[in-house]
Order: sequence, then structure tokens, then C-alpha cells
Amino acid sequence: MDTLTTEERSERMRRVRAKNTSPEKTVRLIVHQLGFRFRLHRRDLPGSPDLAFISKRKAVFVHGCFWHRHGVRCPLTRMPKSKRRFWGAKFETNKTRDRRSQRQLRALGWKYLVVWECQLRDIERLRNKLRRFLLG
Ligand SMILES: [Zn+2]
Repeated sequence: MDTLTTEERSERMRRVRAKNTSPEKTVRLIVHQLGFRFRLHRRDLPGSPDLAFISKRKAVFVHGCFWHRHGVRCPLTRMPKSKRRFWGAKFETNKTRDRRSQRQLRALGWKYLVVWECQLRDIERLRNKLRRFLLG
């Protein structure tokens, strides 16, 4: 008998998936299948983007919804119930760092796309999004 709540179930499924493959690896695989070549975590670029397409001057960030605070409507962006002040400060630091990296990339003439963890629930849609970004 299945006695898990919806929340427990999705938490469990998230762990299972995370064990097999990370969101970042899935995005790499999709982009590779689309036929694009890329570099990983270039430290000479602001924010060390997860994927960098040097000649196109385009970058892709794969963001975990929890750490990078996707937004209130995202089911994975839950707020921990304890130590809220601690988490709040941590999340602010992450968001500030993300904004700064993205601003610096734009200033260098780069375009970037943020792929959120929860967008991996619809691979076909994500594939189209990545294709549009990389061809556009
Ligand atoms: Zn999300």
C-alpha cells in the first residue's frame, strides 16, 4: 500500500534521480545530442558557467531550484522550516552572486540561459528551449 504523501513521494523521486544523474549531466547530454560542442566550468568566465559555447559567446547555467531560489511558484523552492535566518542569508548570497555573474557576462557580450532543475521534468520542452537559444 502506498502511504506516502505527494510531497514525500516527490522528495523520494528527486533523490532517486539525483543518484542516477544530476540535472547538469542531463543538460549536457541533451546539448550533445543536439550536436553542439561546449566547454565545462570555464573559470575565466564570470560565474564559471556549467556549459560555455565559446565561439557563440553563449553560456548555460543549470541551477538547482532550492539553492538558487527559483521562485515561489516552483515546487522545489521550499523554505527549510528551521534556521530560517541562516538559510535566508545563504540564499541571498547565492542570488547576489548569480545576478553579478550574469551582469558581467552580458557586459562581455555574452548571452546566457538559465536552466532550472524543475524544467527537467519536461525534457522535450527543454530540448526545444536549448535548441532555440543555441541557434538564435
Ligand atoms: Zn524550479
